[in-house]
Amino acid sequence: MSNIEQTLSIIKPDAVERNLDIEIKSIFQNQGFKIVKEKKLKLEKSEAEQFYKVHETKPFYNDLCEYLSSGTIVVMILEKENAIKSNRNLMGATDPHKAEEGTIRKLYGKSIDKNSVHGSDSPENAKIEIDFFFKN
Ligand code: UDP
Ligand code: MG
Repeated sequence: MSNIEQTLSIIKPDAVERNLDIEIKSIFQNQGFKIVKEKKLKLEKSEAEQFYKVHETKPFYNDLCEYLSSGTIVVMILEKENAIKSNRNLMGATDPHKAEEGTIRKLYGKSIDKNSVHGSDSPENAKIEIDFFFKN
């Protein structure tokens, strides 16, 4: 049975500042993702804190929110068969040094914090994250 899903993807500040957004978008498209909606913006720190609220007890939470709100990002709704898992596979491991060859994080990520992309990790979070950026 077909399982077309939507997931939220973010091209993070380290990638946008290196002008990698066009290249990363074309990787998604070449892998069969449709970019349903997209926008370029800069978050306030308080908005990053809300977005990453699931991580609020983690030691890296403050740095993570500082970082995500430090520069321009590109947010996209990606659509494909099994989009959520498919995007996570294409992104690679959180730590670019552990990511598989050919993944976006292996190609472009600089470190575990500056790892170039975000992707929703479950259908529940995909819906929450899509609404966060695209619900009026
Ligand atoms: N992160 C970090 N240090 C860590 C773990 C995570 O800076 O030790 C950052 C990293 O940028 C990651 C984000 O926090 O992308 C969210 O962490 P998560 O475990 O959800 O990883 P992801 O789902 O992005 O692979
Ligand atoms: Mg995550």
